[in-house]
Formats: sequence, C-alpha cells, structure tokens
Amino acid sequence: MDHTEFRVKAKEMVDYIADYLENIRDRRVYPGVQPGYLHKLLPTEAPEKPEKWDDIFKDVDQHIMPGLVHWQSPHMHAYFPALTSYPSIMGDMLSSALNVLCFTWASSPAGTELETIAMNWLGKLLGLPECFLNEKNDSPGGGVIQTTASEATLVSLLAARTRALMELSKLNPELQAAELLGHLICYCSDQAHSSVEKAGLIGLVRMRYIESDEGQSMRGAKLEEAIAADKEKGLVPFWVCATLGTTGSVAFDNLREIGQVCQKHGAWLHVDAAYAGSAFVCPEYRHWLDGVELADSFAFNPSKWLMVNFDCTAMWVKDSTALHRTFNVNPIYLRHENSGKAIDYMVGSQNEDIKKLTLKKINIMNDIDHPKADDNKVDNKFNKNNGVITQIENRNITKVDAVEVSTDVDGNIGKDDDLYDAVGDTKNLHGYNKISHGCGKIIQLEDPNKKELLHWQIPLSRRFRALKLWFVLRNYGVVGIQKHIREGVRLAQKFAALVLADPRFEIPQPSNLGMVAFRLKGDNAFTERLLKRLNARGYIHAVPACFKGIYVIRFTITSQRTTNQDILDDWNEIKIVASEILTDVFGSENGNIAVVKKPRISLKVHLFEPVYFCSSTQMG
Ligand code: PLP
Repeated sequence: MDHTEFRVKAKEMVDYIADYLENIRDRRVYPGVQPGYLHKLLPTEAPEKPEKWDDIFKDVDQHIMPGLVHWQSPHMHAYFPALTSYPSIMGDMLSSALNVLCFTWASSPAGTELETIAMNWLGKLLGLPECFLNEKNDSPGGGVIQTTASEATLVSLLAARTRALMELSKLNPELQAAELLGHLICYCSDQAHSSVEKAGLIGLVRMRYIESDEGQSMRGAKLEEAIAADKEKGLVPFWVCATLGTTGSVAFDNLREIGQVCQKHGAWLHVDAAYAGSAFVCPEYRHWLDGVELADSFAFNPSKWLMVNFDCTAMWVKDSTALHRTFNVNPIYLRHENSGKAIDYMVGSQNEDIKKLTLKKINIMNDIDHPKADDNKVDNKFNKNNGVITQIENRNITKVDAVEVSTDVDGNIGKDDDLYDAVGDTKNLHGYNKISHGCGKIIQLEDPNKKELLHWQIPLSRRFRALKLWFVLRNYGVVGIQKHIREGVRLAQKFAALVLADPRFEIPQPSNLGMVAFRLKGDNAFTERLLKRLNARGYIHAVPACFKGIYVIRFTITSQRTTNQDILDDWNEIKIVASEILTDVFGSENGNIAVVKKPRISLKVHLFEPVYFCSSTQMG
C-alpha cells in the first residue's frame, strides 16, 4: 500500500469505524458462531503474492465481524466495560502511525513527558494524595501507564518482594535468596481478582486469602489476625493487595483499616481499583478511597470505564525507587545525555531511601556479583560528596553516610576487612542491590553527578499510550467524564429498581457503581439456565459470578451509548426468557411465587404490587 492508496483506504476505514459505532445498537452483541468457524473460512497458509486491500477487507466484513462480541454495544453487560471513544481512537491511530517507543526520555522526549503530565492530571482528577504525583523531578512518587491491571499488580508485588528480600538478606546474611523467599507471605481478600493469585505464582511467594465480610469486603481485623498468626510461624508478611471494586460484586476493601495493619507490619500495600478507579473522578465516590495515603501503589484501568481504549492501566507509586531496585538494568545503549532530568519510564526516581528499610549497615549499590571484563580497568573509587557518596566512574549515586570506600577489580568493595564490614556484606544481597557496570570508564556517557533513574515496568518497549489518555481528558474535560460515570451509575440503579420490582428476582448483594448482580430466586440452576439462554439468543450479553455458593448474573452498564430505553429493552428480554424457564419448570411464568393483587386504591399508586411469600430455597 502506498501513500496514495493509504489516503483513500484509511479514509474509508474511518467511515467504516464511524458507521460501526453509530449503528452498533443494531448488531447482535454475542456471536452465534461455533469454535473453529474461522478455521473453516480462511486458508491455512499466508498468501504467496500480495493481495488487494479490497479483497482483504471483504473478509473482515464477511468472516471476522460475525465472530466478534461487540463490546461497544449498549447491550453488552458482560465483564467490566472496555470502552473506547473517538478522541481515544484518534490517539491510538496517531500513536500507531508514529510508533514511537517511550522507554527512556531520549527515546521519545514528548512521549515520556506527556505521560508524566497526563498521569499527574489523572491522579489529581481522582483525588489521589500528592505523594503519588510527580510534579517535581525529585519527587519519589509518580504515575506510569502499564498495559494491564494484572501487570501493575505483578510489578507492585515484585517491587515489594525485592524490598523485603533486601532487608532480610541484610539481617540474615547466611541465607540464600531462595530460602528467604520461602519465608515471604502476602495477602489479598478471597474476592481479589485472579491476577493477584497469578502475581503470587509468578513471584514464587505464598499468598493467603483473607475471608471477606458479609459485604465482600476485606477488613483490617481479619488481616491482622492472619498476619499475627503467620508471624508466629516465622513467616514474613511483605505485601497486601486491597481491591476497590471487586470483580464479582464491586465490593470495596476497607483501605484505612488495611493500611493501618500494613503500616504496623511493614508490608507494602497495593490497591487494585481496576474498574472502580474511574468512579473516583466523581467526589461522591471517593469515600471508598479513604486511607489511600497509606498505600504504596495504586492502579486502575482507564481502559475500562474511562473511554480510553485498551491498553491503558494507570499506576502510581509513592516511591519509584522501589521499582528501580527491582527492574534496574542499565546497558549503555539506553543511557543518554539527559538522564536524570526527567522521568525515564525505563527508569525510576533514585530518591534513594534504602536506609529506611531497616538496613542497619551501609548499603552501596554495586554489581559485585557480576563484574564484567571491561570493569577490570575501572577504578571504581567512591568520593565523599556532601554526605553522599558518588561513584566516580559509574553512574550510581547512592546515599550513604560519609564513608570512603573503594571497589577492587573484581568489584569487591573495600580492600581491607574493616572497610568491607563498614559497607556491609553486599555479597549477601544475592544480586538484589545490583547495578550493572556497563562500560564504565571505557565509554563514559553519564555525568556521575546526575541522578540516573531506573526501571518502572517489566517490558522495555512501551507504546505512546499517553496520547490517547491526554486526548480523552482534554476532549471530554472533567465535566464530561464525570457526566459519563454518573450516567452509568444512574442506569445501573434504574436496572436494579426494575429487578427489585419483580418478585421472581433478587439482588443478593448491595449493588455498587455500574454493576448489578441479580438472580432468579431459588436454585442456582434457574439462574444458570437463564444466563445460558440469554447469551445464546445474543441480544444481550452477560457473565456470571458466585458469592459464597450463590450464582448470580453480573449485569454491568458498559457502554456510553446505553440509554433508558436500552435498559428497558434488556430487562424485557430478561423477563421473557425468565418466564419461559419458569413456565418450563413450574408451568407458570411466576414459578412458585404467588403474586397477590392489591385492591385498587388510587390511580396514582401502583395498580399491582406483587407479594411473594416463599423463601428462595422453597423455589428450588
Ligand atoms: N483486577 C480487577 C479487580 C479486575 O476486575 C480485573 C479485570 O476485570 C483485573 C484486575 C484484571 O485487569 P487486566 O485485564 O487489566 O489485567
């Protein structure tokens, strides 16, 4: 495709996108295809010769579109929203065209700075405390866009794990990291998302699930009890994940209580607000944020409810040094003249505060475990510099008390034993204090007096995602975003009112924000059957959840296109299918629920108020 054809075909594509979104209400939200359908329609090999764009696109229309779930549909009620919007699409279009990678400031200065600016805007919009923002370059806090909430959780767990292992290594120099790892334990509620469990699996740490209360909320007392019992057994609590807006029921853990427990035991507190975080743009929902200043990291997905298309997870940390210690590598090709003058998302603030982590001995960050051949020629002397020791030939600045030390050619610190003792047995940090030497003196790119910043994330390369976030924030403005969130909540409340007015249904848990979890009274099998049939009909799409053995249908308002009429239509569809099922089972569309007519009193009151007098188990 050349420029000329691109101009024509891309414009057609824009029309196709606009038509798709404008008319999405008309599409069946859930596809009627069977597994393997596409394999039967497409060839098994890539084409030998170039194909015409029109032929390619014809296949999209004929084969791909019928096999999609239409996530932007107003009748999409499954999962959580994955919304897009025109400013966001345009941000992604431009980002895809530019295809700049924003890992260091030098790799994309505007990309990096825009991310910091947009994340500061967003953090303020949510009412996050200033400690999470990065308005001054020497601020230890800051925001970064990760790909997913799962990744943010993992990053947070790994950073906390490193912090704990560093501390434990110092206190237990005779133990290997693997042995120390076996002592670590972290916590989340029994309602936490599966990605938290996955983070624990990847991090090779034990995870304890705290039983949530009757409102599905993790509370401080239960956490305290579990931590105290684990400490008795010699385990080391190092990380707690609190959820604001659980996946099953949009329940909220009690942040303040949990934060206080974490502070008491020195555990890192991560807040996973994947879905509900968007709601905090509205001050009336910020009561759930109470205690957030006690958290070490906080993440939510603008890619869910905030109309910034996937992927975009906003993550803030109080101390990016913790990320830097975890993800730090520093090869020469990633260093640049302006290192330290702005955030590098490859890197973090080196507002070094290792001493705070109870390390009694002085810790000098140096790659003693992994000396490189070239380093043999490097005289790695450290100089006193206003109470800060700066490594002359390398790029590390490590804040330690005024002690003069040197490294030998093998990277060992201090030639004499006294000096070695003075800086601590860094060998026993098992690489957790590692900063690679790069080429040291041989190729000197760094001004050693500049702060070098280190990693914030797992991958190196990163898309220019700040663009779409920035476009959305600007094009909707605070008022537009708040309106969108409030409308979603209003429609969910409307739906809840319809459910509660029908005696055959119940809402076993309080509903929060834009999600209502409802069920047919009685045996789980009725609700299971209802959901299966609804999805098979394809007019609306929803997924289930289970609260302590009770099967429910999660009905989430996802689309900004959902209207009052859509909700009425969806409820009508649910009632029709429910009536079919109850008629199948009980021979009556009311099941075994007796509906009593009330005497007519006034035209202004409801003509019929149904009364039910069987328990849910009776119905089963
Ligand atoms: N955390 C919670 C509470 C969620 O509800 C979800 C997904 O819905 C996730 C994490 C995972 O999000 P992601 O797909 O961005 O990893």
